[in-house]
Amino acid sequence: MTSTLHPGLGEAARSFLSRTHQLLIDGRMVESDSGRRTDIVDPGTGAVIATAAEASATDVDRAVHAARRAFEGPWSKVTPAERTRMMLRFASLIEDHADELAELECINSGKPLPFCRNGDVVGIAEMLRYMAGWTTKMGGETPNVSMPGEWHAYTLREPVGVVGQIIPWNFPLNMAMWKIAPALATGCTIVMKPSEQTPLTALRLGELALDAGIPAGVLNIVTGFGNPVGAAIAAHPGIDKVAFTGSGETGRRIVQAASGNLKRVSLELGGKSPVIVFPDANLEAAAAGVCSSIFFHAGQICAAGSRLYVHERVFDEVLDGIAKRANAMKMGHGMDAGTQMGPVISRRQLDRVAGYIDQGQQEGATLFAGGQASGEHGYFVQPTVLTGVKPGMRVHDEEIFGPVLCAMSFNDEDLDSIAATANATTYGLAASIWTKDLGRAHKMARRLQAGIVNVNALSSPDATLPYGGYKQSGWGRERGYDAIKLYTEVKAVAINLNN
Ligand code: ADP
Repeated sequence: MTSTLHPGLGEAARSFLSRTHQLLIDGRMVESDSGRRTDIVDPGTGAVIATAAEASATDVDRAVHAARRAFEGPWSKVTPAERTRMMLRFASLIEDHADELAELECINSGKPLPFCRNGDVVGIAEMLRYMAGWTTKMGGETPNVSMPGEWHAYTLREPVGVVGQIIPWNFPLNMAMWKIAPALATGCTIVMKPSEQTPLTALRLGELALDAGIPAGVLNIVTGFGNPVGAAIAAHPGIDKVAFTGSGETGRRIVQAASGNLKRVSLELGGKSPVIVFPDANLEAAAAGVCSSIFFHAGQICAAGSRLYVHERVFDEVLDGIAKRANAMKMGHGMDAGTQMGPVISRRQLDRVAGYIDQGQQEGATLFAGGQASGEHGYFVQPTVLTGVKPGMRVHDEEIFGPVLCAMSFNDEDLDSIAATANATTYGLAASIWTKDLGRAHKMARRLQAGIVNVNALSSPDATLPYGGYKQSGWGRERGYDAIKLYTEVKAVAINLNN
């Protein structure tokens, strides 16, 4: 490991990286209780680019108390319209610092810079603006009750309280904002733990929130490892809700830890999302869509289309189109011009993905494209396509979280049986259908057990669309009005007008 920074980084990002990063608690950067620090690595080179503070359970406790004070104090006095204005200012500040945020996101997560700039940074500003609109629009109802006598009954939608938010390393900015924005909109306060591998942009967001006038203690950021920091958040009796995005294994631990005070839990876990290509589809667009879904960000996307089902009549044509694109894809550092696919996040992830590619072949799959991994200078895995994959093989059943596509064919016309094959997984996050037949598209959409179904598209990144999974892909929906529901309690008030 070296301490070389990518030459393309601008002054603002360099200056941020050179700081001693601390914890953001109660509106101030403070040292962690342990004094320990973790190396933060650029996965495109393997170089250490910064160190971050390792919080302890005591730090989490301090953050929870700050969040509680803000929730019961200053934040509760801020009107919905004022919250909207603060959130809009926060969004504008993000845009003012777009290049810095995009470069920090790129150098720490590995994603190509143009996407960090035009996808992540633009996306989080939009998410804030969308959620800012709800502060003055969400509200209760006046149900038409049938109890004897005369009543006035209504419901109130109230913030759930202090929320713990634990996020992963694949989309540090987006995952942070998908959770911060609805929490701010509803009047909650936050203790957030970014991934120990990618804490930098969340810390910068925390500072910009303060600059936007959001009171101290509303957004606290505690950096460090899942254990003890995430575990302390999940178990803390002073936290009313925990929102988590990450692996199923950690999700289960969080559910157990949260059971102590029965805090609300929302989970966005993994996926093994099917892509179904019918013979009448625009095959060029399907091949391009599949490649961008599974190879973009090196497959480290929970909704990546990782199981491909192509009708046998067009299987060879679609697979050739995919292999051609995969083989031509420019792998490199996210900051390098022209990079189409960056590194995986770490050596551990590289070994994991390479292990799946090897094991898939041992279990009988055929390597159709890619397959090589290199960890010498950064952590790179080639865009890989496996054919001859069958249920029961680990590459078929498990989430790889790498650039590995499992391609299979079908010869059936019966939508129920195609759907049964696609649904034969413990996951249910996303699915994609490719056909020009509208009836078939709608019928398939109804049959698929997935929280997100895209037709003639692999993704639909819009703040208004609920995002979350069926089955073991999670609990609850982020984005859209469903996210507002996730951060609120409903209170029914009934007044007997005769007494
Ligand atoms: P990965 O192994 O790919 O990092 P995880 O699901 O373990 O995926 O990580 C997602 C987030 O969950 C990270 O912020 C991580 O630190 C956190 N985490 C890991 N273990 C725990 C735990 N036991 N309790 C709470 N959070 C955890």
